Amino acid sequence: MDILIEHVDVLKEGRLIRDTDLLIEGNRIRGIGNIKCEAEEKIEGKDLVAMPGLVNMHTHLGLTLAKGLFDDLSFEDFLRQTEDFDRRNTREMIYKSAVTGMAEMVAIGTTCFLDFYYDEDIVERAAETLGMRCALAWAVLDEDKTTQRGSPIKNCEFFLRGKRSTLVTKGVALQGVYACSDETMLKAKDLASETFLTMHLNESQGEVYSFFKERGKRPAELVFSLGIMDENFIAVHCIFLTKREIEALRNSTVVHCPSSNLKLANGIAPIPELLEAGANVALGTDSAATNNSLNMFADMRLAALLHKSTHWDPSIMGHEACLRMATENGARALGIDSGAIEEGKLADLILVDKRSIYPFTPSNLVYCTTQRVDTTIINGEMLYRGGRFSERIRKEL
Ligand SMILES: [Zn+2]
Repeated sequence: MDILIEHVDVLKEGRLIRDTDLLIEGNRIRGIGNIKCEAEEKIEGKDLVAMPGLVNMHTHLGLTLAKGLFDDLSFEDFLRQTEDFDRRNTREMIYKSAVTGMAEMVAIGTTCFLDFYYDEDIVERAAETLGMRCALAWAVLDEDKTTQRGSPIKNCEFFLRGKRSTLVTKGVALQGVYACSDETMLKAKDLASETFLTMHLNESQGEVYSFFKERGKRPAELVFSLGIMDENFIAVHCIFLTKREIEALRNSTVVHCPSSNLKLANGIAPIPELLEAGANVALGTDSAATNNSLNMFADMRLAALLHKSTHWDPSIMGHEACLRMATENGARALGIDSGAIEEGKLADLILVDKRSIYPFTPSNLVYCTTQRVDTTIINGEMLYRGGRFSERIRKEL
């Protein structure tokens, strides 16, 4: 469907182009400027700002229904409880959980997410049914440490070999050094030779210190020495890093999940230092069990405030850097041609109601808490408009 959004403000490279028109043809952005043409759908945009859709780079959608079940626990107890939940999680529950999580994300302006779980074929079915773009990484860990049926490596391989679609990018996930032998990590890297590899890394003091005690190396040092850290590597959390480990991550992506890290009392990742080293930093909510929402605006604000405060420097994490972390940096890591409003890019964008933030400035998208998403468009299709989900989402809820 062709969509013409008239008289809209467009957020491009951190600046606002005021009172312009935006044309979407099929699944691509075809024009920005003074456009006069017919379109199947016209939107009056005088009260709206178009911005790139948010890219949530770390979710576990199979755990959406665990929201509020495992609060206020130590990280170790949380892992034990979720493992028990995973064991009882059925394929029907995972589908319901995935649909619930995707609907929450669409309503808050997320147009793409990277999910990390097993049974990703179910999340794939949900994403295609709802029309949501995503990257799905099948969780790989040692056979004696998993709740998956069968071999995680073989399950992942089977998933990667499956059908391809325009909305879904497939990849590999490593649970963490505490559940993956060197051999498992190397096999996962082999499987991911033509795609991305994501991994929980240096998430807690317990993980880092017990691994060091056992192996004489820190987790990120070991992963680096195995040759896994390249431009297709997407490390998640990265809280306890030495300068050497920060340097090792400079060609990779690091996903910052501030709400989850704070809620589990795991600490604060050295994000300004990773950016300084050259790492591509993106943003994620983590699962609804540790956040307890999938609201990227909330995590963007938290990321900005946290690093200003811990560095005693309000300029160290500006709103533009946070907007990039929540949009284009994630798209770049996944090799998806979106994350910015430009002619020719995929039409993954959102319209924010300017009346919900008055006066409206780009910085208020990060610092203000009242922003209301009016419309979410993914792959050129309107999935959410004026508080209502599209027909195909409503059918699944
Ligand atoms: Zn995680």
